[in-house]
Amino acid sequence: MFKKFVTFGVLALFLSISTLALAEEVVTTPRGTKYHKEICRLVKNKDQARKLEKEDALAEDYSPCRRCFKEDIKEKTDESDK
Ligand SMILES: [Zn+2]
Repeated sequence: MFKKFVTFGVLALFLSISTLALAEEVVTTPRGTKYHKEICRLVKNKDQARKLEKEDALAEDYSPCRRCFKEDIKEKTDESDK
């Protein structure tokens, strides 16, 4: 029984690590033009928030949120985050 539990734990850990390694998940809102981290206050408790891979968000012309994706913002300054 204990062994089963450990196996499950290792599997879950492996899955979460491989997901992180493969793609970064971001969250967008239907009317927003930014992508956010899941923990961002701007998308928390929004049931219409959509999860997708960052690559896909970029392909759809979303830009990084200034609150949670500061590290992704380079020189581009964009004031549409309201
Ligand atoms: Zn954000």
